[in-house]
Formats: sequence, structure tokens, C-alpha cells
Amino acid sequence: MIEVIEDIKRLLTVFEGMSSKLKENGWIISEPESPKWWGGVLSPEEVIISAILVQQTKWEIVSEVMVRLRQGKLNTLKAIAELNPVDLANALSGVNLRFTKANRLVKIAKAITLMGGLGALSKLNDNEVREMLLSMDGVGYETADSIMLFALNRLTIPISTYTIRVIKRVYGYSGSNYEDWRITLMRLLPRGLYEYKLFHAGVVTVGKEWCLKGTPRCIECPLRNQCHLAKLKTNGG
Ligand code: SF4
Repeated sequence: MIEVIEDIKRLLTVFEGMSSKLKENGWIISEPESPKWWGGVLSPEEVIISAILVQQTKWEIVSEVMVRLRQGKLNTLKAIAELNPVDLANALSGVNLRFTKANRLVKIAKAITLMGGLGALSKLNDNEVREMLLSMDGVGYETADSIMLFALNRLTIPISTYTIRVIKRVYGYSGSNYEDWRITLMRLLPRGLYEYKLFHAGVVTVGKEWCLKGTPRCIECPLRNQCHLAKLKTNGG
């Protein structure tokens, strides 16, 4: 276990050295509490809005939509809560499932605004925030944990398909379910917003760029010297 903890710390050093690749994938290494980690967005509310929009849609498209929402002053939960979902959908052109997402976003914005906004949400403890987010239509575990970490600065780790694929291959470890993965990784990583955000940005980037679902591109991968699977391949395993 000690070895894995030391090794996972080295993973963070590798991710820090990949800052330009992270940026290409929409992750900006920033101050621990900054919302900018999330694609350079300007506020925690923009993290929440774009976390819903990015489901099944490329970040580049969401990024363009966020610029349009900013220009139209529709980048706050209060503004979205007052919108008709069809009007919001019209502002989301390019986003997959934009009518469904517009409906969901208006409902989420209304719920958070009604309770008193992000200030009121921030007063709840982690379990209460998570429960509240998970009760929203269209918010699953990964989106809830992404919002908690990147918008609300709560110490949690979103578990994506990239996280599972990369960590399984690097360490030969497999969690039994979402919660098992989340708790185990939170235990192994140094505890901190900077560390958790960097870890998520790093594994997602490695999963998209090199650790592909079919054939991983191990020769070019920055994790090749630490990776269990890459070593097996080198040794003819
Ligand atoms: S070395 Fe290969 S298997 Fe390991 S993380 Fe990189 S791409 Fe994936």
C-alpha cells in the first residue's frame, strides 16, 4: 500500500509536467480554489452550467456556447432560472440533446436559486450537497462529484470511464463500484483540492490522448515508466 501511495504521488508530478496537454484537453492548472481548472471558466456557476452541457458533447463546443451565454448574460443560475427552457435551448445550438439539457438546467438553476443560491448550498455538509445534486434530473455520480470538486471546492474525486481504464492499467487495481473507486482513490492521493483536481485532469487527459479503449498508445504515454500493463507488454506478457 505504501508503494502505491508513493507511486500515485509520482503520477501527480507527471501530470504537472503535462500542463500544455492538459490545457488542450480543457484543464487549466490554477490556484487550488479557482474555477479556472474547469476549462478556464470564470465562476463556480459556469462550472455547474457547463458540467451539464458537456455530457455527450465535446468541450470545444461547450466552450463556444459558454462564450455566447456570457455575451447574453445567461451565464448565471439566476438568469437561467428565469428563462423559458425553449429560449435557453435556442442559445445552446451545437450541444447534443440541447432541449433536454435546457429543461434540466432550468430546473437545477431554479432549485439552487430557490434555496438561496450557491451561498446557501455551500453551507450544507458534503453528504447533503451530494444528495441534493444527485436528486436532480441528469446529474449522476460523476457530474455531482465534478460539480462538488470544481465548483464548490469539496474534497471528492469524480470517477470517469477514463479514471477506471487508466488506473486499472497502471496499477492492475479494480474497484468494485463507483463508491469503492472514489473512496480508495481519495485514500491513496495526498488530500487537497489541488491534488484531486490535478489527478482528475491528468487521468482524463491520459485516457483521451494515449490510453485508448482499444489499443493503448503506450510508447508515447507519459505514464509508461509506471504502468503495469506497459511493463507486461515490454516483457512480452
Ligand atoms: S502506458 Fe499504456 S496502458 Fe499505461 S496508461 Fe499509458 S497508454 Fe495506458
